[in-house]
Amino acid sequence: MIGIVWGNRPLYFVNGAPLYGYIGFGVIDRGTNVLQVRPTTLCPLNCIFCSVDAGPHSRNRQAEFMVDPDSIYEATLEIARFKGGGVEALIDTVGDPLTYPYITYLVKKLKRNPYISSIALETHGALLSHRLIDELDEAGLDRINLSIDTLDNNKAKILQGTKWFNIDKVKKLAEYIVKETNIDLHVTPVWIPGINDDDVIEVVKWAYRIGAGKKWPPATIQRYNIHKYGRKVAGVKPLKWSVFWRKIREIEKTTGLRVSWEMHEWKMEKRKRYPCPYRKNNVAAVKIISPGLFRGEYIGVVAKKEWLITVYGGRKEIGHTYYVKIINDKDCLLIGKIMGEI
Ligand code: SF4
Repeated sequence: MIGIVWGNRPLYFVNGAPLYGYIGFGVIDRGTNVLQVRPTTLCPLNCIFCSVDAGPHSRNRQAEFMVDPDSIYEATLEIARFKGGGVEALIDTVGDPLTYPYITYLVKKLKRNPYISSIALETHGALLSHRLIDELDEAGLDRINLSIDTLDNNKAKILQGTKWFNIDKVKKLAEYIVKETNIDLHVTPVWIPGINDDDVIEVVKWAYRIGAGKKWPPATIQRYNIHKYGRKVAGVKPLKWSVFWRKIREIEKTTGLRVSWEMHEWKMEKRKRYPCPYRKNNVAAVKIISPGLFRGEYIGVVAKKEWLITVYGGRKEIGHTYYVKIINDKDCLLIGKIMGEI
């Protein structure tokens, strides 16, 4: 990894394996036919509700990452092959995939692969342009999951924490995607209770009106959530899941428009997981390779079977190897605590 400075923090380029085990970049397998593909952590926006504290105004991030396109392609292919094909590559990221300079190259490569059945990406749309949309269409992108949270330009600037963000432009480009390309559009507003209650309904009505959902569902309302390092909207508590789902049913009843979907409607199914080489409570030798995305975090490589791990536990030296106890292994996104230096 070589770092250059992006904003106030270093940007590391990640080249080669391993690309499994870390939430910030690489490939994530959650036991279905959808693989999360994360080639970049960068984002140009500063959404006030951002659960991953992305963007230029981030307070908790200490580093950013970008992965070599051939390396992330190989890592995606390895798991897609293991799963037997019919896999969706969902380029979702802890930032915005459109910051990735190799995005059309990556889509094109994935599209040519027989184990990948569809390619989608998630974005707030700030970096979309007619030219980029045409290039992505030509590269074979199947779907854009567009997260816009209001149709009001002034409100969008506040929600996205960015004065130059122009929701009118994003709307026009979204309509272009639906009408002029083979790319499908799925619209996914984040609902922040008390802040954009009516807006999310207007966004959903607009998505249906313009013809989103050519092959996949047209719209989903996302629940505002709080994460340890994420940004919180002052005075707003996330709805309990039971309350959220009750309100979603009410919205569906009053509008007559569906905003929640079953797995099969996403062409999603459970699949065997790529084998996870480590389990909770294992103690392993871990070489620290860089600072992690967030302050207090390091990224290490578990020495025996090359796998990434997030490491906590005080200031550590890059290049040194430590004994680490694995304290979390959910979806094989390993988190460990330093026990001592080797
Ligand atoms: S919510 Fe998405 S678009 Fe907004 S700052 Fe976070 S990563 Fe960027």
